Amino acid sequence: MKQKIWLFVLCGILLLAGIVGSILVLQRPDTSQVEIVQDGTVLYSFDLDSEEDQVIEVEYNGQVNRIEIRDHQIHVLEADCPDQVCVNMGWLRSAAPIVCLPNHLVIQFTEGSDSLDAVAG
Ligand SMILES: [Zn+2]
Repeated sequence: MKQKIWLFVLCGILLLAGIVGSILVLQRPDTSQVEIVQDGTVLYSFDLDSEEDQVIEVEYNGQVNRIEIRDHQIHVLEADCPDQVCVNMGWLRSAAPIVCLPNHLVIQFTEGSDSLDAVAG
């Protein structure tokens, strides 16, 4: 009987650790620096905090992704791709990038070069 209680407590702790862990991983990175990458090439790189509202069109083999920046956030507004996964992913809010596999497109936060600059400077 006592062992069962400990097992229950242990499961609870593990569950809690898992939840906390996933929150930490999915938290927005400590940067507003975002880049749009296609086939491993950085097409656009900007600071969302200082970027004006705009729509950027990126083409791949005649297929277009329309990427919108609004209120210092970024998402895929429209896309010609068949799966529409990139559109359905919504706003970029975490370290997990927005990916459009058919159009070889990735939108992601770039890891904080700020801290490195601080050390170097
Ligand atoms: Zn897509």
